Amino acid sequence: MQYCFMDIVFATNNRHKVDEAQAILGADFTLTTPKDLKLFEEIPETANTLQGNAFMKAQFIWERFHIACFADDTGLEVEALNGAPGVYSARYAGEEHDPKANTEKLLKALEGKKDRSARFRTVVALIIDGDTFYFEGVLNGKISESPSGKGGFGYDPVFIPEGYDKTLAELTSEEKNAISHRGHSMRQLSEFLNNHIC
Ligand code: IMP
Repeated sequence: MQYCFMDIVFATNNRHKVDEAQAILGADFTLTTPKDLKLFEEIPETANTLQGNAFMKAQFIWERFHIACFADDTGLEVEALNGAPGVYSARYAGEEHDPKANTEKLLKALEGKKDRSARFRTVVALIIDGDTFYFEGVLNGKISESPSGKGGFGYDPVFIPEGYDKTLAELTSEEKNAISHRGHSMRQLSEFLNNHIC
């Protein structure tokens, strides 16, 4: 299967994500965002799986514009909590999406638990010509006993990647991007696009 296009919509309004994806996809592809298409309404993400949410966001763009598009959704899955907070990571401690409150709630939930293993998982849904393709990136690690570091965002101050002795918030953004779940999923997307473009 071969598709011919260069412009792709990334269904996010997070500039940081767009810049990171653009850097990975390279100059052969031009990423645009919903705002570039004058779409200012909030894109719903009410599914109960990462895959469902990624698809829902990409489909929202596809149905309106019929142009190639992709969306991502990420969750932190903690072993001792049966995969929670998972798809609910952003609003674990409430609808305010407060990263500090989320982190505190997580540390509390893990108090006294021996197994602190966890993973970040990102699912990307790509829609081209009405066909949907999924890519997944995973970063394994464990939850620290207390927050540490000032970089990154979300749960970074309490997530220690496998093979490291510091949290993601203590790594530089280059170090984090090289190993991150989102980076992995974007590199898979990039490989797919490069193999299916005429
Ligand atoms: P999103 O799907 O990328 O918006 O991610 C959902 C939630 O997962 C975010 O609000 C964060 O709480 C958390 N999250 C996603 N990616 C990361 C990351 O790289 N570091 C820390 N937390 C993250």
